[in-house]
Amino acid sequence: MKYISTRGNAPVLSFEEAMLTGLARDGGLYLPQEIPVMSAGDIAALEGQSYEEVAFRVMWPFVGDAFTEEEFRGIIARAYAPFGHAARAPLVQLEQGHFLLELFHGPTLAFKDFAMQLIGQLFEFSLKRSGSRVCIVGATSGDTGSAAIEAFRGLDAVDVFILYPHGRVSEVQRRQMTTPAEDNVHALALDGHFDDCQARVKDMFNDFDFRDAVGLAGVNSINWARVLAQVVYYFTSAVALGAPHRKVSFTVPTGNFGDIFAGYIAKRMGLPIDRLVVATNQNDILHRCLSTSEYKPDGVIPSISPSMDIQVSSNFERALYYAYNQDGAAVAQLMDELKAGGFSVSQGALQALRESFDSGRCDEDETRATIRKAWAGMGELLCPHSAVGVKVAEEQRQTGTPMITLATAHPAKFPAAVEEASGMHPPLPERMADLYERSERVTRVENDLGALETLIKERTAH
Ligand SMILES: *Cc1c(COP(=O)(O)O)cnc(C)c1O
Repeated sequence: MKYISTRGNAPVLSFEEAMLTGLARDGGLYLPQEIPVMSAGDIAALEGQSYEEVAFRVMWPFVGDAFTEEEFRGIIARAYAPFGHAARAPLVQLEQGHFLLELFHGPTLAFKDFAMQLIGQLFEFSLKRSGSRVCIVGATSGDTGSAAIEAFRGLDAVDVFILYPHGRVSEVQRRQMTTPAEDNVHALALDGHFDDCQARVKDMFNDFDFRDAVGLAGVNSINWARVLAQVVYYFTSAVALGAPHRKVSFTVPTGNFGDIFAGYIAKRMGLPIDRLVVATNQNDILHRCLSTSEYKPDGVIPSISPSMDIQVSSNFERALYYAYNQDGAAVAQLMDELKAGGFSVSQGALQALRESFDSGRCDEDETRATIRKAWAGMGELLCPHSAVGVKVAEEQRQTGTPMITLATAHPAKFPAAVEEASGMHPPLPERMADLYERSERVTRVENDLGALETLIKERTAH
């Protein structure tokens, strides 16, 4: 499989190259040249298979020229072994026709482990094979960073630098990033918002001299391999509820649009998905764009679902690429307009987006009320992100089509918000019960590109 950029002006790469590169050199995001389709028979045959087996069958057509079957099966097995649930992504029923896909049984208790654990094993395999070394730099609103650190800590051929917005991540998220003691782990607390962290990472990738000097590699949600890993649980959950013989819909708590875009790929691969519902918190740029066609960032308002506090949703560019009939020049034009303040999606493209995506928003009071209601009525303790999803799903679901809401984090990752809303303190799973006793290590940094590049160069000069 070959990979092309959403902006149509970067080298065509193999899976392995696209994975190690992250952002394309024209500023775009990589996508497969074509999307492989699974027949109804192929999908029906997934029933009763392990998560790992489904992962192999769904992802293989995208990566098959990079690994042998045996190598890829080994990578998948090592990636998901540290999960705390045999099903990896268990489905629980909330109400008649409404299901919750629990994606929080990985090592850092958020769905990002699904992608990051796989990427850690993919990188380790590829770098060992080529005898090379990379420097991973990522921005996080909380969950990506801890998942990346967990996936890469202690690897010989990788340094990992994670920028998070100082004071704007939960204590559990922060501790998951600052307590690993391995030398190759560098947690950086930046004075700014998540969008600032994300912008500085983009700047570093666009500084080709720096990028080549330190061997920069990205594992943010723009990395194609991450999107691909997330396609798998759309298949396992839909098949568990009767696909391919029955349609299902999904509601996805959305920030950077990576998770829901994986659902869009699953749909294009042939999985019978009816609706993909984008659920946003009060930072609702995606909901506004899908409602009005205007994509205009207007500043982040911190919320109790911080991993969705985003105004520039990077993976949305991939959806735009398909909505604009794979016209890279049109996407590049929109992204130029975005730099100048915002853009308006054409009527044709908006219609194309609405053929797959619906959207809704959930404010802070509604989020708390949903946590309270789910605990009292269903005995289900939701994290605030998952609660945003459940609220929007309740508004949008239609009788006859099962709705699956993605539960993106464990409630114990956001204990203050969950306890305030439900009166119940969510305990950490046994395997991380000593998190609050471990000592922390973090470097405070300014929102300044030059200073960041200097620091990274110094720390990687082995
Ligand atoms: C990252 C994250 C999201 C948003 O996912 P995107 O792929 O960025 O849309 C939602 N919930 C939690 C808990 C997250 O960590």
